[in-house]
Order: sequence, then C-alpha cells, then structure tokens
Amino acid sequence: MRSILHPQNAQEAVNLHHEIENSVYLAGGTEIMRLGSSIPSDVSLIDITKLPLKGIREDEGNIVIGALTTLEEIASSELVPQFIRDAALFDASLQLRNAATIGGNFALRRFDSYLIPALLAAEAGMTVMCTKGLKEKSGAEVFEKKDCKALFMSFIIEKKRIGEVKRIARAAHAHAAVTAAKSEGVYAYAVSGSGIAYGGSDAWKSIPFKDDLTGSAEYKKYLASVIF
Ligand SMILES: Cc1cc2nc3c(=O)[nH]c(=O)nc-3n(C[C@H](O)[C@H](O)[C@H](O)COP(=O)(O)OP(=O)(O)OC[C@H]3O[C@@H](n4cnc5c(N)ncnc54)[C@H](O)[C@@H]3O)c2cc1C
Repeated sequence: MRSILHPQNAQEAVNLHHEIENSVYLAGGTEIMRLGSSIPSDVSLIDITKLPLKGIREDEGNIVIGALTTLEEIASSELVPQFIRDAALFDASLQLRNAATIGGNFALRRFDSYLIPALLAAEAGMTVMCTKGLKEKSGAEVFEKKDCKALFMSFIIEKKRIGEVKRIARAAHAHAAVTAAKSEGVYAYAVSGSGIAYGGSDAWKSIPFKDDLTGSAEYKKYLASVIF
C-alpha cells in the first residue's frame, strides 16, 4: 500500500526524501497518478501541496514563480514573459494545466517537456531546498543533476526577457516531436525519445536522435535544424 507523508515545511520534506529511498514529492500529481506513469505505483509520496510554494510575484526586475504554480496560472499571468506563458499553453488540456505544476514539469525532464526548453533558453534561476538549507542555482545546473533530491522552491526569470517557443506535433494534444525555445541568443531543444540540449543555435546537433512514435530520427533532426 502507498504511504503519503505530510511534512510541515520544505526542510522536513527534503529530509524525508533523503531518508525514504523510494519516495517522490507529490505536487500536481498529474504524472504520479496517471495511468502508465513513469513513476512506480509503490513509491511513498511526500505531499508538498500545502507548503507555501505557490504564486507569481515581481522582485527587483525579476519574476519569481513558486514551484507549485500551475501551468494555467503561468499562462494567464500578465507578469510572466510572453514566451514562458506560450510554453505553458503547449499543455493543450485545461484540466491538466489546472493541476500540473512548473516544479513537477521541470523535475520530470521529459524529452517532450512543455516548459524546460523555455526555462533553459530564459536562463532561469532557481531556489532549491537541500539538506543543508536554501540554495540559489541556475536552472541549467539543476537540470543537469538528474538524481538531485532537492525540493524546487521557485523559478526566477528576468521580467523583460524576450523569447520565442515552438512545438511540432501532429495535433495540439499529441506528443511533441520537437519543442524548442530561443531567448536573447540562447537556444534549447527537446526532442521526443532522444534528448534535450541547450546553448547556441546549433545545440540540437549534440542530441542523439532516435526513431519513436512521433517520427524517425532523420525527420526530427530535420525539424530541429529548421525550427528557428
Ligand atoms: C495525459 C497526459 C499527458 C502529458 N503530456 C506531457 C507532455 O507532453 N509534456 C510534459 O512535459 N509532461 C506531460 N505530462 C506530465 C505532467 O502532466 C507534467 O509534466 C506536469 O507538469 C507534472 O507536474 P505535476 O505537478 O503534476 O508533477 P507530479 O506528478 O506531482 O510529480 C512529478 C515528479 O516531479 C517531482 N516534483 C514535483 N514537484 C517538485 C518540486 N517542487 N521539486 C522537486 N521535484 C518535484 C516529483 O518528485 C515527481 O517525481 C502529461 C501528463 C498526462 C496525464
């Protein structure tokens, strides 16, 4: 039977995650609870939904987005740079957007991620809670640490950041073949079944393209090469 733990604060949540080997944070639950989830059904859930990690605010030229903020809240906020709002709308289902959180989306590091290309291209910063307390890191640094057990607290994006996002799929609700973002000279690409890369405009070249249900390796390579 699945156990659900209710930490009183962020530090306790992180400590529990380290103590319990088979555990995940429960945020929107859209990945944890879905049929055919990538997360095994017997893991312990550390419920972070009552922690104060929600909301969008302005802070000295930056926009700070709490990790529990939903994709719908991001899409409808006039504070958030337009291309990040556009990326949140890549999730074509209102029901899903109402539950799915930015923290959960980033943590999953999916190769068809709605938000990761936009956040990497935006050079977003992050505040994370580790066993040794709060830390400020770059989103790219956190992204690379795939086995990191830190609790994401917030995402920080320059208010005036300008960018563009694109997503290629057979239909708005279908799995994306390629999702990409560019912002002020930084490019990021997520390619289904293959990988995520960021850096210059040719960052896509480092992705090991593979065939999957969204298309052949050659097809996706072509899409990534012409998307911007
Ligand atoms: C039908 C369907 C289609 C989907 N399609 C896509 C898609 O195309 N692209 C896509 O990117 N996603 C997709 N998803 C997955 C999911 O809905 C989103 O990625 C969502 O944003 C996950 O957020 P969540 O809050 O629901 O995460 P949860 O399900 O609550 O958690 C998922 C993971 O994130 C970790 N996590 C959550 N919050 C934090 C935090 N604050 N700090 C550290 N780790 C955290 C948890 O430990 C867990 O491992 C789909 C889901 C469904 C049901």
